[in-house]
Amino acid sequence: MRGLVKRYGDHTAVGGIDLEVFAGEIFALLGPNGAGKTTTLEMLEGYRNRDGGSVTVLGADPEHATLAWRSRIGLVLQTSQMPSELTVFELVDRYAGYYPHPRNVDDTIELVGLADKRNARAGRLSGGQQRRLDVALALVGDPELVFLDEPTTGFDPAARRAAWSMIDNLRGLGKTVLLTTHYMEEAEALADRIAILVRGRIGAEGTPRTIGGRETAPAQIRFIAPSAFDPSILSSGKISHDDAYLVITSAEPTVTVGELVDWARAAGQELSGLEIRRPSLEDVYLKLAGQPS
Ligand code: ATP
Repeated sequence: MRGLVKRYGDHTAVGGIDLEVFAGEIFALLGPNGAGKTTTLEMLEGYRNRDGGSVTVLGADPEHATLAWRSRIGLVLQTSQMPSELTVFELVDRYAGYYPHPRNVDDTIELVGLADKRNARAGRLSGGQQRRLDVALALVGDPELVFLDEPTTGFDPAARRAAWSMIDNLRGLGKTVLLTTHYMEEAEALADRIAILVRGRIGAEGTPRTIGGRETAPAQIRFIAPSAFDPSILSSGKISHDDAYLVITSAEPTVTVGELVDWARAAGQELSGLEIRRPSLEDVYLKLAGQPS
């Protein structure tokens, strides 16, 4: 997408996004409520028309999507409503019938961990199970590209792990996945690359390790300082306090830790609770997106 724009009346929901998602990668869009993630996905899915910019998805403009193009993508929308009287099997089987080369229905139900609910009516599933059913419906057409809008919202921790391994398996099958999520661990566990959307624009883009300069940002070294500790032994770093902890923010953590260890050895002291921390993905996210949009 190049210069992608969407306005709702006076409100610019997406304000000029340039982004490329490569075949075979898992790409995560993060951002606060209302940042424009769903709107962006909807324009890529051919579900909503744009007001500006250009988009190519699987070689075509989604606004002029053909049935053949639609059969190559799978969608998990942010919310969905299934006919509650149909069973899991009946629904997945029905969706399989919409596609030219569907996956095996029972294999797909198994893949999302609903085998024991195969004959349960959709209306009787728990929230997390209904979400898994959404994922099964997105996958049964054996799509090349899968859009997952908050795929694990409402999942318990074990179900979320299972969903991650399922999504990770899609990578192994050569699929491309574009997902949105509010779970930083999800983006960190799954994504090859991440973009953080803030008020309709890209605030940062990169791999989970490097986004927002994580790798090179100063580290925080924390410990409970013995009363004999004298900060003047440190050649660099900024000192602050957090409850009982002394916190050194250092651009040269190896040097700082070396100086601390040398001092502690010489003085026969323990640096209790010693911890070295790089900015987490959540730190980077909150720095960019901390203000409500
Ligand atoms: P969330 O994390 O809450 O799902 P999001 O990043 O997906 O948020 P969008 O749903 O894309 O955000 O919404 C972006 C902005 O556009 C919001 O300010 C929202 O109020 C507005 N918006 C979304 N859909 C419509 C619509 N159909 N009509 C008018 N405004 C809309």
